[in-house]
Amino acid sequence: AQIKGSYAKRCGFYDAERFQGIKEAKMLQVEAKHGLQNGEFLFYLQPKVNEGTGLIVGAEALARWNRNGRIVGPDVFIGEMEHSGLVYSLDRFIWEEVCKWQRNLIDRGIAPLPVSVNVSRVDFYFADVAQELIGLVEKYGIDPSLINVEITETALSENLDDLRDVIVRLREHGFFVFLDDFGSGSSSLSMLHALDIDGIKTDIHFLNQMGQDDRASSIVESVISMAHMIGLVVVAEGVERQVQRDTLLSMGDTYAQGNYFYEPMPAEAYERLLCDPTKLGVPLHAKKPLFR
Ligand code: C2E
Ligand code: MG
Ligand code: MG
Ligand code: MG
Repeated sequence: AQIKGSYAKRCGFYDAERFQGIKEAKMLQVEAKHGLQNGEFLFYLQPKVNEGTGLIVGAEALARWNRNGRIVGPDVFIGEMEHSGLVYSLDRFIWEEVCKWQRNLIDRGIAPLPVSVNVSRVDFYFADVAQELIGLVEKYGIDPSLINVEITETALSENLDDLRDVIVRLREHGFFVFLDDFGSGSSSLSMLHALDIDGIKTDIHFLNQMGQDDRASSIVESVISMAHMIGLVVVAEGVERQVQRDTLLSMGDTYAQGNYFYEPMPAEAYERLLCDPTKLGVPLHAKKPLFR
């Protein structure tokens, strides 16, 4: 009993709280799976703007779950869905919904702007991501430049060769590819060299350092100007405050996505913005990278 007690303590095996946690995770997985089958998932859109003018240049599709009548965000479900592999079904669904939505806009005579979709690192284990996305734009007859692909930086640590291949095929087909959450990982700079991408989205926490002290601001500034120097589009994510906007403005031609400009919103609300010419700028994909 003595040994068992200390073992249990060391491994936390009899930890009631932990057990409860595992049980809840399992229940969430089951619930999310049903939710997917019942059409409870949807996407919100968060506009991306030109930093200088504040005009809309595109948007990002962000998954939401209508869970018993309450809209909840990815912090509630993405982690568990990645664990179980269910995230691929979600992503595949969101990609298709976005393509369908773009098609529908065009059919209604509304000029579309590019929308980015997220790709989880888990997706690469479940499917040929490039082939799936190519199949979808062909199915809905939309220009691939209307779909931007955001790949999270953490996806890159595994299977770099496979990933490079997927990115090459996507870009050859006309998709724009962005590295998401740039600056949150440790291998950021080497990745810029290893992968042929169109742009980066700087991580929210990265931007938050700005304005804290001169040193942090200088790092952010250097990374952004370096990205510009090698011809990458830069989207600064999580712009919340005026000071961040002002600092970014001094760094030249960047784009921004953040609550200072617009929060994520239902597709219908974004459509109303698309119909207001005073809010629209030159589409994001019109900026061609240098050196290519
Ligand atoms: P992300 O792809 O980096 O998306 C940006 C996140 O930052 C969004 O959170 C957005 O609402 C939030 N954000 C943007 N501006 C601000 C700001 O000014 N302040 C603050 N506090 N937050 C801001 P969201 O929608 O909760 O999504 C979180 C993450 O979940 C995403 O980060 C992405 O990694 C993941 N995610 C969202 N939708 C999908 C999806 O369809 N598939 C996959 N695989 N992951 C998704
Ligand atoms: Mg993203
Ligand atoms: Mg991000
Ligand atoms: Mg992220």
